[in-house]
Amino acid sequence: MLVAFWPLASNAARGPGLDDRGFENAQDAFVAVFIDSGLGRRAYEENREYAAALYQMPDGRWHATPVSTGDLKSCRIPYDKVPDGAVRIAGAHTHGQPRIAGEGKQEFGTGFSTIDRRNALLSYRVTHGRVESQWLLTSHLQILELSFAMAYSPADSRIGVQSRIRDLGLSERFARHSADTGPLATSR
Ligand SMILES: [Zn+2]
Repeated sequence: MLVAFWPLASNAARGPGLDDRGFENAQDAFVAVFIDSGLGRRAYEENREYAAALYQMPDGRWHATPVSTGDLKSCRIPYDKVPDGAVRIAGAHTHGQPRIAGEGKQEFGTGFSTIDRRNALLSYRVTHGRVESQWLLTSHLQILELSFAMAYSPADSRIGVQSRIRDLGLSERFARHSADTGPLATSR
Protein backbone atom coordinates (compact mmCIF):
# COMPACT_ATOMS: atom_id res chain seq x y z
CA MET A 1 0.00 0.00 0.00
CA LEU A 2 1.29 3.44 -0.90
CA VAL A 3 1.74 5.60 2.15
CA ALA A 4 2.45 9.31 2.02
CA PHE A 5 2.56 11.91 4.75
CA TRP A 6 0.36 14.93 4.61
CA PRO A 7 2.42 18.12 4.81
CA LEU A 8 1.28 19.40 8.20
CA ALA A 9 3.37 22.52 7.78
CA SER A 10 0.95 23.82 5.16
CA ASN A 11 -1.70 26.25 6.33
CA ALA A 12 -4.49 24.00 5.05
CA ALA A 13 -3.63 21.07 7.27
CA ARG A 14 -2.29 22.87 10.32
CA GLY A 15 -5.21 23.84 12.54
CA PRO A 16 -5.03 26.83 14.85
CA GLY A 17 -4.73 24.67 17.99
CA LEU A 18 -2.19 22.29 16.51
CA ASP A 19 0.97 23.61 18.09
CA ASP A 20 3.73 22.41 20.35
CA ARG A 21 1.81 23.02 23.58
CA GLY A 22 -0.31 19.96 22.94
CA PHE A 23 -3.80 19.18 24.20
CA GLU A 24 -5.45 18.28 27.48
CA ASN A 25 -6.75 14.93 26.28
CA ALA A 26 -6.84 12.59 23.29
CA GLN A 27 -10.26 13.82 22.22
CA ASP A 28 -9.07 17.43 21.93
CA ALA A 29 -6.07 16.27 19.89
CA PHE A 30 -8.36 14.26 17.61
CA VAL A 31 -10.72 17.20 17.07
CA ALA A 32 -7.82 19.54 16.29
CA VAL A 33 -6.20 17.17 13.78
CA PHE A 34 -9.29 15.86 12.01
CA ILE A 35 -12.15 18.33 12.59
CA ASP A 36 -10.91 21.87 13.16
CA SER A 37 -8.26 21.46 10.47
CA GLY A 38 -10.92 20.57 7.86
CA LEU A 39 -9.13 17.28 7.18
CA GLY A 40 -12.18 15.17 8.09
CA ARG A 41 -14.32 17.02 5.60
CA ARG A 42 -11.65 16.73 2.91
CA ALA A 43 -11.27 13.01 3.65
CA TYR A 44 -15.00 12.59 3.15
CA GLU A 45 -14.98 14.50 -0.12
CA GLU A 46 -11.92 12.61 -1.38
CA ASN A 47 -13.51 9.36 -0.13
CA ARG A 48 -10.30 8.08 1.39
CA GLU A 49 -8.89 7.37 4.82
CA TYR A 50 -6.42 9.46 6.78
CA ALA A 51 -4.71 8.41 10.00
CA ALA A 52 -2.52 9.73 12.78
CA ALA A 53 -1.30 8.49 16.14
CA LEU A 54 -2.13 10.58 19.21
CA TYR A 55 0.17 10.35 22.20
CA GLN A 56 0.54 11.63 25.74
CA MET A 57 3.91 12.78 27.03
CA PRO A 58 4.97 12.47 30.71
CA ASP A 59 3.84 16.07 31.38
CA GLY A 60 0.28 14.94 30.64
CA ARG A 61 -0.16 16.82 27.36
CA TRP A 62 -1.40 15.05 24.22
CA HIS A 63 0.14 15.51 20.76
CA ALA A 64 -0.33 14.07 17.29
CA THR A 65 2.03 12.60 14.71
CA PRO A 66 1.95 13.82 11.11
CA VAL A 67 -1.08 12.52 9.23
CA SER A 68 -0.74 9.59 6.82
CA THR A 69 -2.82 9.28 3.68
CA GLY A 70 -4.60 6.05 2.84
CA ASP A 71 -7.00 4.84 0.17
CA LEU A 72 -10.70 4.01 0.09
CA LYS A 73 -10.52 1.13 2.57
CA SER A 74 -7.30 1.37 4.54
CA CYS A 75 -4.70 3.63 6.05
CA ARG A 76 -1.59 2.89 8.05
CA ILE A 77 -1.55 4.48 11.50
CA PRO A 78 1.94 6.01 11.91
CA TYR A 79 2.78 4.59 15.36
CA ASP A 80 6.43 4.68 14.26
CA LYS A 81 6.30 8.50 14.45
CA VAL A 82 5.43 8.49 18.16
CA PRO A 83 8.38 9.62 20.32
CA ASP A 84 9.92 7.00 22.61
CA GLY A 85 8.99 9.02 25.71
CA ALA A 86 5.23 8.83 25.09
CA VAL A 87 3.34 7.15 27.92
CA ARG A 88 -0.07 6.53 26.31
CA ILE A 89 -0.97 6.20 22.64
CA ALA A 90 -4.20 6.26 20.66
CA GLY A 91 -4.65 5.38 17.01
CA ALA A 92 -6.92 7.63 14.96
CA HIS A 93 -8.34 7.38 11.47
CA THR A 94 -11.17 8.46 9.20
CA HIS A 95 -13.47 6.52 6.94
CA GLY A 96 -14.67 7.64 3.50
CA GLN A 97 -18.24 7.88 2.30
CA PRO A 98 -20.78 5.20 3.27
CA ARG A 99 -21.70 4.27 -0.30
CA ILE A 100 -19.45 2.58 -2.84
CA ALA A 101 -20.43 2.67 -6.50
CA GLY A 102 -21.86 -0.66 -7.61
CA GLU A 103 -22.30 -1.95 -4.06
CA GLY A 104 -26.04 -1.29 -3.87
CA LYS A 105 -27.62 -0.01 -0.69
CA GLN A 106 -25.07 -1.44 1.71
CA GLU A 107 -23.32 1.17 3.88
CA PHE A 108 -19.63 1.07 4.75
CA GLY A 109 -17.46 2.64 7.38
CA THR A 110 -20.24 3.46 9.84
CA GLY A 111 -18.23 1.95 12.70
CA PHE A 112 -14.99 0.14 13.52
CA SER A 113 -14.54 -2.65 10.97
CA THR A 114 -13.57 -6.19 11.90
CA ILE A 115 -10.03 -5.43 10.73
CA ASP A 116 -10.00 -2.17 12.74
CA ARG A 117 -10.95 -4.08 15.91
CA ARG A 118 -8.44 -6.85 15.25
CA ASN A 119 -5.61 -4.34 14.64
CA ALA A 120 -6.64 -2.32 17.69
CA LEU A 121 -6.53 -5.35 19.98
CA LEU A 122 -3.23 -6.46 18.48
CA SER A 123 -1.72 -3.01 19.05
CA TYR A 124 -2.96 -3.04 22.65
CA ARG A 125 -1.47 -6.48 23.28
CA VAL A 126 1.93 -6.07 21.62
CA THR A 127 2.51 -2.71 23.34
CA HIS A 128 1.34 -4.06 26.74
CA GLY A 129 -1.50 -1.56 26.85
CA ARG A 130 0.44 1.51 25.70
CA VAL A 131 -1.82 1.77 22.61
CA GLU A 132 -4.96 1.83 24.71
CA SER A 133 -7.59 3.35 22.45
CA GLN A 134 -8.67 4.13 18.90
CA TRP A 135 -10.52 7.14 17.54
CA LEU A 136 -12.60 7.06 14.37
CA LEU A 137 -14.40 9.61 12.23
CA THR A 138 -17.03 7.38 10.65
CA SER A 139 -18.54 7.60 7.18
CA HIS A 140 -21.51 9.26 8.90
CA LEU A 141 -19.12 11.88 10.28
CA GLN A 142 -19.57 10.73 13.84
CA ILE A 143 -16.76 10.30 16.33
CA LEU A 144 -16.28 6.94 18.06
CA GLU A 145 -13.73 5.88 20.65
CA LEU A 146 -12.78 2.23 21.12
CA SER A 147 -10.83 1.65 24.32
CA PHE A 148 -9.34 -1.37 26.03
CA ALA A 149 -8.73 -2.18 29.66
CA MET A 150 -7.92 -5.20 31.77
CA ALA A 151 -11.05 -6.12 33.70
CA TYR A 152 -12.62 -9.00 35.57
CA SER A 153 -15.17 -10.95 33.61
CA PRO A 154 -17.77 -12.68 35.83
CA ALA A 155 -18.84 -14.80 32.85
CA ASP A 156 -15.63 -16.83 32.78
CA SER A 157 -14.19 -15.81 36.18
CA ARG A 158 -11.05 -14.38 34.60
CA ILE A 159 -9.27 -11.09 34.21
CA GLY A 160 -8.92 -10.26 30.56
CA VAL A 161 -8.96 -7.51 27.96
CA GLN A 162 -12.31 -5.84 27.63
CA SER A 163 -13.28 -3.30 25.01
CA ARG A 164 -15.72 -0.44 25.14
CA ILE A 165 -17.03 1.84 22.40
CA ARG A 166 -18.05 5.38 23.23
CA ASP A 167 -20.12 7.31 20.71
CA LEU A 168 -19.36 11.01 20.88
CA GLY A 169 -21.96 11.76 18.25
CA LEU A 170 -21.50 14.36 15.59
CA SER A 171 -18.97 16.82 16.91
CA GLU A 172 -20.50 20.20 17.69
CA ARG A 173 -17.37 21.80 16.34
CA PHE A 174 -17.69 19.71 13.19
CA ALA A 175 -21.29 20.84 12.76
CA ARG A 176 -20.19 24.45 13.14
CA HIS A 177 -17.34 23.96 10.69
CA SER A 178 -19.71 22.36 8.18
CA ALA A 179 -22.21 25.20 8.58
CA ASP A 180 -19.43 27.67 7.83
CA THR A 181 -18.48 26.00 4.60
CA GLY A 182 -21.80 24.64 3.36
CA PRO A 183 -23.75 21.47 4.03
CA LEU A 184 -22.24 18.04 3.54
CA ALA A 185 -24.04 15.48 1.40
CA THR A 186 -25.30 13.46 4.33
CA SER A 187 -29.03 13.32 3.67
CA ARG A 188 -29.71 9.87 5.09
ZN1 LIG B 1 -11.30 1.75 9.76
